Amino acid sequence: MPLSRPLAIVTHPLYLAHDTGGNEHPETPARLTSLLTRLQDSPLKNRLSFIEPRKAQQRWLTTFHDEHYLFRLEECALSGKTHLDHRDNQLCFASYEAALLSAGAGLTGIDLLEGGDNLVFCAVRPPGHHAERNLALGFCFLNNCVLAARYWQQQYGRRKILILDFDAHHGNGIQSAFEEDPEVFYLSLHEHPTFSFPGSGYAEEAGTGPGRGTTLNIPLPPGADERLVLEVLHNRVAPVLAAFAPERIIVAAGFDGHRADDMSGLAYSTELYGRFGEYLAGWANRFCQGKLLSILEGGYHLESLADSATAYLTALSNHK
Ligand SMILES: [Zn+2]
Repeated sequence: MPLSRPLAIVTHPLYLAHDTGGNEHPETPARLTSLLTRLQDSPLKNRLSFIEPRKAQQRWLTTFHDEHYLFRLEECALSGKTHLDHRDNQLCFASYEAALLSAGAGLTGIDLLEGGDNLVFCAVRPPGHHAERNLALGFCFLNNCVLAARYWQQQYGRRKILILDFDAHHGNGIQSAFEEDPEVFYLSLHEHPTFSFPGSGYAEEAGTGPGRGTTLNIPLPPGADERLVLEVLHNRVAPVLAAFAPERIIVAAGFDGHRADDMSGLAYSTELYGRFGEYLAGWANRFCQGKLLSILEGGYHLESLADSATAYLTALSNHK
């Protein structure tokens, strides 16, 4: 048996009450059920602890979102409307509270990490990386990764944060939050924006002003597979990450690049998510005393999502 490390899963039953209107919509409660059931049936079972998050308080939400937007989101959910800003962003009465708990998971996870834990995975919905300061987009309402980075900086004084986003889509909201900020590095691998939602994330987008050079977009062609991604991780991501030397790493962990997931044209294998886990655990050991916060983003093929997340977390836990 390899040495294995414990893994804290931050999750909440109310995430299942965020109703996106039935099975027509890909971002369903069954995603989380599938993922959590698979984890509990896996050899990881005995290394897991399940923690309920708190709701993110207004003072943390406003480190990114504007107050008027937060009011619109709350009012939209509580007044019985079915979507916010675009028909993709379906919600229900419970969605505001679910979104607060989803944003809160990163904060609770950071408290665990600063309190002595090493590996935290936030199994949340709604996801976050497309949410902008004042706009819901791509099933996302509150930008969970952005709020976690701000919390890490302001609550614990960690300055240099790297957010690595391996979701199949570009995390436009994370990029826009930090494109002028030299202390938060946003690094995203995603399907090329010419072919994929949300249409941003070109290689030329590299940050602006003082943040020039701390945004790195690596668009991948449709059909990109393990061979290409491993080459990119080794030759492009590793040197950039080492040069930045982050104090803390947040992973925007989306699993929709899997070849079975029709939300992207990428052709990732289940095993590739294990390789992402090996790389990230290695970087966390080298730069962050082994501490790593991962927050679920996309992943819509139920079996592949469960398999891929389990492969990723198994690799994190097994890494020496
Ligand atoms: Zn995605």
